[in-house]
Amino acid sequence: MITRDDIEFFDDMEVFQEVLVTPTEYSYWVEHKIVTEGDTRLVENVLGLVGEAGEVAEKTKKLLRDSTKLDRNDIIKEIGDVVFYATALANFFDSSLAEVLEMNMNKLNDRASRGVLQGSGDNR
Ligand SMILES: [Mg+2]
Repeated sequence: MITRDDIEFFDDMEVFQEVLVTPTEYSYWVEHKIVTEGDTRLVENVLGLVGEAGEVAEKTKKLLRDSTKLDRNDIIKEIGDVVFYATALANFFDSSLAEVLEMNMNKLNDRASRGVLQGSGDNR
């Protein structure tokens, strides 16, 4: 089992520290970084998302295999890569990171209010 004890944190770090970039600014920034255009963009963005999620899994696997500490910054960088491709996909569908965040919060709040957070099915 992996716990927070397996991750190297910095003592002077604040949790949920304030950042200056907004989700909307990030969506515009991502759109200017996308290099794939046309018919291949959707597939490239989906593969990018899956690949970066795989890198998060790979770092976690190595933590188990090698019994070493996981560097917090290394995993945050990979999570950032996941967010990049998730944002690129949102942009592709004429959405934005802000809309994705809001819809996800609304969906989970609705499920929580109806007592169906656990279970399965996309539209429960
Ligand atoms: Mg990466």
